[in-house]
Amino acid sequence: MISVPTLAGLELSGEAVLLRVDFNVPLDKQGNVTDDTRIRAALPTIRHLTARRCKVILCSHLGRPDGKRVEKYSLVGAGERLATLLEGEVIFSPELTGDGVEQLARDLPAGGVMLLENLRFEPGEQANDPAFAASLARLARVFVNDAFGCMHRKDASIDAIVPLMERVACGLLVEKELEALGRVLDSPKRPVVAVLGGAKVSDKIAVLESLARRCDTLLIGGAMAYTFLRALDKPVGASRVEEDKRLLAKRILERCAERGTQVLLPDDHVVAATLSAEAEAQVVTAIPDGLMGLDIGPVTAAKYAEVIASAQTVFWNGPMGVFEVAPFAAGTLAVAQAVAKAPGYTVVGGGDSAAAVAQMGVAAEVDHVSTGGGASIEYIEDGDLPGLKALRAKR
Ligand code: AMP
Repeated sequence: MISVPTLAGLELSGEAVLLRVDFNVPLDKQGNVTDDTRIRAALPTIRHLTARRCKVILCSHLGRPDGKRVEKYSLVGAGERLATLLEGEVIFSPELTGDGVEQLARDLPAGGVMLLENLRFEPGEQANDPAFAASLARLARVFVNDAFGCMHRKDASIDAIVPLMERVACGLLVEKELEALGRVLDSPKRPVVAVLGGAKVSDKIAVLESLARRCDTLLIGGAMAYTFLRALDKPVGASRVEEDKRLLAKRILERCAERGTQVLLPDDHVVAATLSAEAEAQVVTAIPDGLMGLDIGPVTAAKYAEVIASAQTVFWNGPMGVFEVAPFAAGTLAVAQAVAKAPGYTVVGGGDSAAAVAQMGVAAEVDHVSTGGGASIEYIEDGDLPGLKALRAKR
């Protein structure tokens, strides 16, 4: 695993610990948590600290309130769910800085848990403001970052806070994520198959190039497949194509060919004239003018599943089609099932792909489902993350 200070090396005895978690969870209109996966993922570190009589002061962001107090993004509901999961009290602080929250932190009993309101209610969080970090730093002497899904962001609670604390470490979730991604990146068992989908080539250039260097076979789906097919002068109809990335796609394919990385593109497609649940969807091998490719077709899904089944290591990120709309979900769900069934070591890189394995009810059969879409992609690209660099620089 990449070098980073961990809980094992952290001296803890009844200390106050500021613990950055990723409670950026989906809420319903009443503010109830509709998926508590991320809260559950933080439990091992919270329990590790409370078992050592630490005062645990949790902080997180939720949604995009853009530096303002927006009640629909309150962490109150997440705090309530955490209390249920811990079967104990979670003190909630509506304030992030100032005398009130500092007093609450001082009064917290050993082994007690407290949660601060949404960090992004303060503009200083996303501005990586040292003054905001300094006011958070007054709450504890020890800092633990377990917010893997946020470690690609240089925010105050991820970056600026670190030099201000006496001792720092990453949490147990971060360790687990790094171990899993490390098994894909560092001398993985071969063959390695990467499945990449999603909307745009432009968003995924760096990860495409990193995976192309590391894997034996690259399976491409989603809208970005059409930019690649266009680069090969295949008919793409009215599919979403990034014309300005056509040459780049061609170059990526050429480099893969030189390196001996096999790249598979869809052979058949689910197409429709409009993107709606009522649209008349049909399966074609060549996309006619005026129709859009909105999912990989059944022949492609079966072929991708076969390749996934023969891999020793599988990494998947990005849907194979517009899986949010029922007629275009089958390809993504087939890949989810294939990844779950695969005998090799399987990692799903968060976001939509994690939602797809959850929707299929097969998340437990995947070796590792990352809690961070953006963070896991950036880690695959660079082999490091700003939040990890900050912790390492402290040693
Ligand atoms: P990304 O955030 O890049 O992983 O992209 C995810 C989005 O890509 C999802 O919202 C999908 O609906 C969308 N997507 C996948 N395939 C297609 C497609 N063939 N055409 C348009 N959008 C797509």
